[in-house]
Amino acid sequence: MLPDYYSPDEETAISIMKHAFNLGCNLFDTAIVPEYGDAEIKLGKFAAHIGREKIIISDKSRFFYGDEMYKAVYKSCENLGTYTDIYFVHQVHEGNEEVTFGRYGAVDALNELKAEGKIKFTGIASHYYDILLRGAKDKRVDVLQGSGNILERGMLNRIESESLFRQKGFILNKVYAAGILPYFFQIQTLLSGALSYPISSALIGMGNHEQVEQAMLKEPKNYTRPAFSQVMSILEKSFVPIPCDRCQRCRCIYGTEIHTIFRQYNYYFLGKDYWALRKLDLSINESAAQCKKCTDMTCMKKCPHSINIPETVQMIKRLVEIHVRNSLI
Ligand code: SF4
Ligand code: SF4
Repeated sequence: MLPDYYSPDEETAISIMKHAFNLGCNLFDTAIVPEYGDAEIKLGKFAAHIGREKIIISDKSRFFYGDEMYKAVYKSCENLGTYTDIYFVHQVHEGNEEVTFGRYGAVDALNELKAEGKIKFTGIASHYYDILLRGAKDKRVDVLQGSGNILERGMLNRIESESLFRQKGFILNKVYAAGILPYFFQIQTLLSGALSYPISSALIGMGNHEQVEQAMLKEPKNYTRPAFSQVMSILEKSFVPIPCDRCQRCRCIYGTEIHTIFRQYNYYFLGKDYWALRKLDLSINESAAQCKKCTDMTCMKKCPHSINIPETVQMIKRLVEIHVRNSLI
């Protein structure tokens, strides 16, 4: 439980985890103190209560140099009071990729810790397809963690068609898209859609007993997903969504992260108003200015949904101007 969002007291947290366990949940994901508040400590107490061997614990930290990662894992095990089954290098991206995968980097450290028996499996967690693909090719990496849901399914589609991923475990987060998709779709649709992809497990945030019961559904015979066009037509009842599935095929020569901007636009209308607007406000003017003078436009060539990217960027800039102005009045 992220401290700024929701942090139940220890007794409540353990009772929620126990309820999920009794309904079949056997994987519990956490991250380091203080990034995730005291979640490691609560999870460690739950593990001792229920019987450590009955559950799988996955943990993570944002350390990319080997020596820092090494210390972080020791600290996590101390907080948990036990070993972790899977330990992820968290939020790997272009800026820290070389350090993470390089000699004496975090991946090397996790391998050493695996040999010592401190962890059982090594992991890479990233929001980026190219990083996950690099992890899939790397023999030192056992498990990958990435994001996706029935709306942001582009990366999952690519993972589904790349056989290299079948050789690793794959844990999926953001199945509810930070809690916003359940306002538009049934939980069953979201879960079934996620589990229809070749993944090992889906991470679901559960903050009370009711949410546990909603998430721990009976296993259906088959997992199905609605077509992307169906998802769009449901969202179109509330706003005009950008039909971006975050496949990350588009590349901007100036480095604009197109899929992130489009995500923030959609999230703004899906209910994450303030957060999305603030994020957009940070970079949209620069991106829009670059699009105006750009003659390259190769970004559009690989878009499976034929989005006019530069025009959409200008439209978002206008939206941000209006809404930031209104929020200041
Ligand atoms: S059109 Fe805009 S987003 Fe596309 S490559 Fe040019 S500057 Fe980047
Ligand atoms: S804009 Fe198109 S190519 Fe880029 S991430 Fe979205 S769907 Fe993929």
